[in-house]
Parts: sequence; C-alpha cells; structure tokens
Amino acid sequence: MTDTPAMSAADEAARRDEALSSACVDEYLHEPEVGPLAGAAPLGHPCVAQPEQWWPNPGEDPVASFGGVSVSYRATPAVDDVSFPVPRGSIVALIGPSGSGKSTLLRCLNRMNDLVPGCRVEGDVRYRGIDLYAPEVDPVAVRTRIGLVFQRPNPFPKSIYDNVAFGPRTHGFHGDLDDIVERALRRAALWDEVKTRLGERALALSGGQQQRLVIARALAVEPDILLMDEPASALDPISTSRIEDLMRELTPDVTIVIVTHNLQQAARVADLTAFLTSEPHGDGSLVGRLVEFGTTEQIFANPADERTAAYVSGRFG
Ligand code: ADP
Ligand code: MG
Repeated sequence: MTDTPAMSAADEAARRDEALSSACVDEYLHEPEVGPLAGAAPLGHPCVAQPEQWWPNPGEDPVASFGGVSVSYRATPAVDDVSFPVPRGSIVALIGPSGSGKSTLLRCLNRMNDLVPGCRVEGDVRYRGIDLYAPEVDPVAVRTRIGLVFQRPNPFPKSIYDNVAFGPRTHGFHGDLDDIVERALRRAALWDEVKTRLGERALALSGGQQQRLVIARALAVEPDILLMDEPASALDPISTSRIEDLMRELTPDVTIVIVTHNLQQAARVADLTAFLTSEPHGDGSLVGRLVEFGTTEQIFANPADERTAAYVSGRFG
C-alpha cells in the first residue's frame, strides 16, 4: 500500500474553496430559478447598541449584520459568538490568521454555507433587517442580492458575453441585453479590454480579467452586497491594484465585505475592519472569535486590544 502525503491545511482550505466555487457554478447553471426574496418581516434595528463612530452614515440601519453568530462543521465549532454590523455603502474587511473563521463568516452572509454538508449556522444573520436564515427565505435569491467572489475566478465555460448575460437571462429579462452587458463590463473596468471579443471564451482571459469578469457577472443582476474572499491573492500586483480601485468605484452603490490576509490591502481599501483570531474553546480545540471591530484607521493606528496590536504590527499570524 502506498502512502499519499497528508494534505497541508492550506491545500485542504484551497480544495474546499474550489469545491464550493464549482458547487456555486453548478447551482447557477442548473438551478437558475430565482424568486423574490420573500423573507420574514423585518425585525427592527439589529445593532442599536453599536457606537455611532462605526457608521459612515449615522442613523441609517446596516445593510447586513451578524448578531451572536456561531458556526460549526459536523459539530466542530469554527466560529463563536460573532457580532458586527455592515453599514450600507461601506467596505468592511475581515482580517485575522488562517483558520480564524473569516471565510466561514463571509459565507453566512449569502447562505453559501448551505452548500457545505454538515455546516450549521446559529445566531442572527440579517440582510436589510430580514433574518437570512428564516425558512421562507430562498437561498438562491439571496445569492443574487449578495454575490460572492472567490479567490480563484470561476467564470462559466461560456463566452464573455454569455457569462455577463447569464443572470439577467435567467431572470427573464427582456430589455436590451447588450446594454446590460456593456454596463456591467464597464462598471467592472473590463469593457475596453474585451469589447471587440465578447464572443470569445471567458476561460481564455487572464486571471485578472477573469476576476473582473466574475465581478461583472455579479454586477449584471444589480447586487446590493458583494462578498470577496481574498479576491486578489491569486493575482499579480497590477491586477490587484485594479481590483482595489474597482472596489472603491463600486461603493457606495454596492456594499463590499472582503476577506484579506493582506494587511496593507485592508488598510488601503476598507472603511471598517473586523479582526478575528483563533482561540482555545472548551476542550482546547480552536475556534474563531471576533477580537475587535472598528474603523480601519482605529484598528491599525490605535487598536484597543493587545491581540489586535500584535497582529497588525506583524508580531503574529
Ligand atoms: P479562514 O478563512 O479565516 O482561514 P475558515 O473559515 O476557512 O477560516 O475556517 C475556520 C475553521 O473552520 C477552520 O478550523 C477550518 O478547518 C474549518 N472549516 C472551514 N471550512 C470547512 C469545511 N468545509 N468543512 C469542515 N471544516 C471547515
Ligand atoms: Mg479563508
């Protein structure tokens, strides 16, 4: 019998991301029925206790929020009791060491964890005041309002045009599709590079272009929130800075929540930052907890917690 080398934690995480990303593509391609987001009645303001200084737009309800959220995978806790708001129009960065639950939390926001067998979400995850996990809420509709961009771009095996037109088509849109495609590609800062080759295969584009195409595909259905899980970590520095510029251009129309392990990136793009870490839990196994949430400026320049100070100054993680 031959031994296969044990998978490293990073390989394992990459394999899981890959599987989820293709599950997401499959879902799109085979289950495109999207109804209205008929949720439970709004539950009121979920974050009244939060200090006002966190809000770029004081007085307005957050577009999304976590309230006491805990997540486990097959009964193994991954995230414990996390609460923070996502104000409308902001860019919120999730930072923290690998395994601290950043991707897990991000996926709670568009019900993507539903596609992970054995994953259980407890607590209060809200979108525009609606409990996202209420039984009446259709997860596929949620994923239209709240798009997810993976680390590795996952265009459909179709043409550039068909990738962007896919969402509006499956929604039964009967207006000028060319117009929608152009607008989404312009918003994703890709139009000039692809306007003469819209019929070509999306997979022939460079990695940076594919990532902007995936963003254009999400934008074509006018999402409210874009979730980005390390969207630039597989890209070269020029493509990375394009993605960062793009994030700035998309807000405040679109709210962005980004996971990044690149602290400079968080400092450059985010208005608000949540710092998570892994801590021993009950039996000594590690679980992700929120240490601190605040303006990016405060988290980096004046952290309230010494664990945050150690992390942002590069002393651990
Ligand atoms: P981060 O994004 O901060 O690196 P993750 O959210 O990927 O952290 O992981 C948090 C914890 O949940 C880790 O212990 C990880 O092993 C576990 N985990 C993540 N995804 C899965 C999965 N699909 N199945 C089982 N455990 C998972
Ligand atoms: Mg992750």
